[in-house]
Amino acid sequence: MTESKETKSDFLSEENPTHFIAQNIEKSLSDGLIKTLVTRFPPEPNGYLHIGHSKAIHLNFSLAETFNGKCNLRFDDTNPEKEDELYVNAIKEDINWLGYKWHGPVHFSSDYFNKLYDYAVFLIEKGLAYVCDLTPEEAREYRGTLTEPGRNSPYRERSIAENKSLFADMRAGVFPDGHCVLRAKIDMASGNMNMRDPIIYRIRRETHHQSGDEWIIYPTYDFTHGQSDALEGITHSICTLEFDDHRPLYDWFIEHLPEDWLPASVSTTRPHQYEFARLNINYTVTSKRKLKLLVDENIVDGWDDPRMPTIAGMRRRGFTPNSIRNFCDSVGVSRSLSTVDVGMLEHALRSDLDKNSSRAMAVLNPLKVIITNFNQEELLTAPGHPQRDDFATRELPWTQEIFIDKDDFRESANKKYKRLVLGKKVRLRNAYVIIAHDVVKNEQGEIIEVHCKYDADTLGKMPADGIKPKGVIQWVSATKSLKAKIRLYDRLFKVAKPGEESGNIIDDINPDSCQEMTAWVEPSLNNAVNEQIFQFEREGYFIADRYLHKPTTELVFNRAIALKDNWGD
Ligand code: ATP
Ligand code: MG
Repeated sequence: MTESKETKSDFLSEENPTHFIAQNIEKSLSDGLIKTLVTRFPPEPNGYLHIGHSKAIHLNFSLAETFNGKCNLRFDDTNPEKEDELYVNAIKEDINWLGYKWHGPVHFSSDYFNKLYDYAVFLIEKGLAYVCDLTPEEAREYRGTLTEPGRNSPYRERSIAENKSLFADMRAGVFPDGHCVLRAKIDMASGNMNMRDPIIYRIRRETHHQSGDEWIIYPTYDFTHGQSDALEGITHSICTLEFDDHRPLYDWFIEHLPEDWLPASVSTTRPHQYEFARLNINYTVTSKRKLKLLVDENIVDGWDDPRMPTIAGMRRRGFTPNSIRNFCDSVGVSRSLSTVDVGMLEHALRSDLDKNSSRAMAVLNPLKVIITNFNQEELLTAPGHPQRDDFATRELPWTQEIFIDKDDFRESANKKYKRLVLGKKVRLRNAYVIIAHDVVKNEQGEIIEVHCKYDADTLGKMPADGIKPKGVIQWVSATKSLKAKIRLYDRLFKVAKPGEESGNIIDDINPDSCQEMTAWVEPSLNNAVNEQIFQFEREGYFIADRYLHKPTTELVFNRAIALKDNWGD
């Protein structure tokens, strides 16, 4: 990775103080314990990636970048009944979009099913694994509790020969699903429940998305993860804190591996597991199981609904890879559990979009304004971004009839109202100063038109009287602008801890999380490309929808976020 020098200084700068995992890696490298850092991101393809995963992705990939190492992508695919190739593809796409490059080919734990089977046989031969016929209920009872030791299974002392033959029968389909399991023989009295003869293989007649119908027995996560790490030469196996008390088991399996098991090409250093606190965000759900519920119950419009905290949903919503990386940097890495305020995520988005999005004008609630002293057409030029000249300028047709937002006009108002008021002046953004002199109302008394005069000598200049109008408002030509469908999104949940009090996340859905409307937008937006993000001046940040914008003729913009946070009000 060529950028390592730059990223290193960036990553370990004062703003981003180094964390315990980075310190450990630095030391392992300088003490010569490892030659090259190798990490991995190990998603299970049973759902789409969410913002929580992006913390693990960022951590694993950016550590590899920083320390000139490698990061593998490995699908942890030991539960075929919940997994799907669809998720494999979505996860790869998301990681690519986030801008991370995995090392070498994509790996699957299922690539190692033969190796894992051989290792299980090896453990049987060493007297360290046995086939157990206890039913799940019996096994639970034998397992003991946190305060009481477990009891040995009556099948624990089966002979090596019998275990070998039974395990071969498990594989060959002699037994029905769930009839028996293969367990590691460790210690039923261990204070750590995970060490009480954990299951390493179970019988499941499921077609696997990678290995098809080759197997009817599948290794458990615990039996798979560390061994896959070892096979890939992973030095730092980074995971979330729930796996803290699985570490002794992780180590046990690695310690008992046959000596010649690892290919010579991979590092001889054994992998170690390091845990960090998972990312939790208020007003947000970061669990694939719960997100799947929202999809399955049609509460949202699929995994990539722009309100979903999935990477695919956030992408459609207008999040940028940069904003997600910056957010991950700002939350840091530690072992203490905490919940991050969703405002931090929104802040990361606003600050990235402010710097990097083109400006445009849109009127969401149109009110017609007639410029009574102008009846031609003129093309005005506006900057693409107020601080950046690398953004192309736009052309704005200035016409006799324009639209402004209904909220930007009042017949009379106090001084705090800095928009258009009858008899007062206002500046139209990127255009002229106008003064309102009349209103036209319908039979219900609603204002349907405002008549104004413009001052032709105010383009980019103060009015001749030297009095600067108090406000600036956006506008579009009424005759030359385009119609667009606008989706105004808001937070998906109305409470900080979805599901906590109600017991059901669906009860906490914010009913106003999506509002659709038609707006008028400046004609330059006809050139918007899919996923281009704009600041609609004074309205917020909007993204041209990834799917609907083109080749359909309809313009569709999703609001990524409002300009300011209104939730605190
Ligand atoms: P979920 O609970 O949503 O199903 P998971 O942990 O089961 O998540 P995996 O696909 O197994 O999902 O996760 C892949 C990696 O992402 C793991 O290393 C896991 O520790 C990490 N990860 C998952 N959720 C978070 C989170 N909220 N914060 C940080 N890392 C996470
Ligand atoms: Mg998992």
